Amino acid sequence: MRIGIFGGTFDPPHIAHLILASETCDQLSLDRLLWVLTPDPPHKTDRPVSPLDVRLELLQAAIRRNPMFELSLVEIDRPGPHYAVDTVRLLTRQYPDAELFYIMGGDSLRDLPHWYQPAELIAMLTGIGVMRRPGDLVDMVSLNRLFPGINRKVIFVQTPLLEISSTLIRSRAYENRPYRYFLPQAVYELIQKYGLYQRETKTQETE
Ligand code: ATP
Repeated sequence: MRIGIFGGTFDPPHIAHLILASETCDQLSLDRLLWVLTPDPPHKTDRPVSPLDVRLELLQAAIRRNPMFELSLVEIDRPGPHYAVDTVRLLTRQYPDAELFYIMGGDSLRDLPHWYQPAELIAMLTGIGVMRRPGDLVDMVSLNRLFPGINRKVIFVQTPLLEISSTLIRSRAYENRPYRYFLPQAVYELIQKYGLYQRETKTQETE
């Protein structure tokens, strides 16, 4: 069994996440992709992240229709900090016979040296599926110097570059500009229903 692990804040989940996920399942011949929602991302301290139950609902709505996609509560079910290395260790125990592939964007691969215990994380993985991201500046020579052998594990997923991010969607919602088609319809409807990321919501949050 080949299992993908796709960690993220998903505030909100958008179509670049879905394209990355589905292309990776196909190109890496995965049997299943676990979407791991991170409750309190250690590297995103510069802004308030939407409440966990809201992001959970958005993520469930985004992945519901694909039978290969599965929500994983492996980070939600344990106290923080939520490091990928601990998540993968837990999943190794949960799926002892599986080959595990971590899925990430090129920006995350570039930041990998700053993750907690990156060498241990890489050692547990069969592969790392990476979708390039505009401006991600991945330097495989330096990465391989830091983590010898990582270049044999990194598999670049062949897709068009997509300049879509959760940040872009939040700022467009805040500015009352269009963002509808950057998202699955169900996620868009939930954002509308709860008035997420909009100017009024932001004011209430800071009160
Ligand atoms: P934010 O803008 O809030 O930082 P994000 O769009 O980067 O959010 P995350 O939930 O942080 O979304 O991302 C989860 C994973 O998906 C990360 O590994 C990230 O690199 C990857 N990812 C997100 N958007 C893209 C994209 N457009 N192209 C490639 N990878 C992406």
